[in-house]
Amino acid sequence: MKILNYIKGKFNEPISSEWMDNFSPSTGKVIGSIPLSGDADVISAIAAAKGALPEWSSLDPSDRALWLDKIADCLEEKFEEIAHLESMDTGKPISLARSVDARRSVSNFRFFSEMIRDREEEVFEMEDATNIVKLRAVGVGALITPWNLPLYLLSWKVAPAIGMGNTVVCKPSELTPLTADLLMRVIDEVGLPPGVVNLVHGNGNAGSVLTGNPDVDLVSFTGGTSTGSKVAMSASPQFKKLSLELGGKNSSIVFSDCNLEETVKGVTRAAFLNQGQVCLCGSRILVEESIYDQFMDMFVESVESMVIGDPMDEDTDLGALISKQHLEKVESYVSLALEEGGQIVTGGKPCLPKELEGGNWMSPTVVTGLGTESRCSTEEVFGPFVTVHRFNSEEDAIKIANNTRYGLAGSIWTGDLERGRRVAESIHTGMIWVNTWLHRDLRVPFGGIKDSGVGREGGKWSLGFFSEPLNVCLKHD
Ligand code: NDP
Repeated sequence: MKILNYIKGKFNEPISSEWMDNFSPSTGKVIGSIPLSGDADVISAIAAAKGALPEWSSLDPSDRALWLDKIADCLEEKFEEIAHLESMDTGKPISLARSVDARRSVSNFRFFSEMIRDREEEVFEMEDATNIVKLRAVGVGALITPWNLPLYLLSWKVAPAIGMGNTVVCKPSELTPLTADLLMRVIDEVGLPPGVVNLVHGNGNAGSVLTGNPDVDLVSFTGGTSTGSKVAMSASPQFKKLSLELGGKNSSIVFSDCNLEETVKGVTRAAFLNQGQVCLCGSRILVEESIYDQFMDMFVESVESMVIGDPMDEDTDLGALISKQHLEKVESYVSLALEEGGQIVTGGKPCLPKELEGGNWMSPTVVTGLGTESRCSTEEVFGPFVTVHRFNSEEDAIKIANNTRYGLAGSIWTGDLERGRRVAESIHTGMIWVNTWLHRDLRVPFGGIKDSGVGREGGKWSLGFFSEPLNVCLKHD
């Protein structure tokens, strides 16, 4: 399968004439090739976006909302194809690709279409004047996305960006090009004006050319914290609008008064969804001392009951990790856990059929006995690897949860909602769930603090980020 760049309404081979292989995470085999775009490819995509900007940004928002609806309809028709491609490209179970990735890519376009259509201009009356706040497009946007939720995150950026009148250049992860290409095919099929959405494939170099180009006015980046720092260094000196959604090391805090059965289900899902490769995953589990043994028995049983195997199999709960390199990184934390004095309660290599032997496989791994300051319990691993710790009091749990450089998300499990809320408000993080996890309402702010990022997207926060407010003050006669 040969994937092409999409620039000014045309699918193009890279000007660089260079290509990269795309590998299947579950078999290790090459499944296609993508352009290794060079500077000239990126610059031509930026020029296309710049050229399309005046006309697109001057459209009425309700007309742009209609385009978002058309894209949503066309994506919905391709629902099964999205799930299939996403599962093949990322190694995630097909059931998850359907329920999360395919579903959200459609609902992202529908949600922002409605928001943009329903939005009313803010007006502030003074005694002798009227202030109108108009939201205008920022300009050309660079949208850079990671490999764990490829179309989910790309559509989360494209929909509000173009809905607010910007034109964009997308740069998906080199590891997961397939659904980004599908979105370009959809955009082509519905006939969106050329240049409004452009996409270049390639490695981090393409991303850095994009963020450093003076014709790019805003950067929305989701990815690792160290890459986010490079993006900030490249974009900030030019005062580009910048949103950074970065890594996390999130706690699941289990109090003794929780509904243990529901909590074990929720904590297992939070730990291992998408093989633990979700920035929101609860990878450090803090359990109140009095129920620790009972929790561990039930949790380990729940983890070991998960079916790991062929992502295309309907019964699979856990698929493969994204790449050989990433598998090595996650496995290095298993060695580190032993060096740091931990015990591996469950984990190892799964037993799989021959055709999957070349893939990037690792069983869900649970580690106990580590200090809460250990590297394994404070650094982002981003794989099927969790550490479990005991705590004795509310204060103790809050202190441990806050002891990490990240501040993205978390979950609290308790029968006392008052306590749930009190503890939630003491955790230094951008998002926190009580008695649930990844229960998303698209209207709420999404993002983190500390090393987890800068800014928020979601609902009106996305509309705010992808626009510039203009205050017009009309003095009365
Ligand atoms: P990376 O930071 O490695 O890559 C993210 C994107 O940035 C990719 O498209 C990558 O291209 C590109 N890129 C790489 N170098 C540069 C550069 N110098 N300038 C501009 N762009 C560049 O992240 P991963 O893809 O490995 O994704 C995993 C990370 O994403 C985890 O840390 C996870 O926590 C985080 N994440 C955060 C979320 C959040 O909302 N907070 C949500 C999902 C993931 P290429 O892949 O081609 O190198």
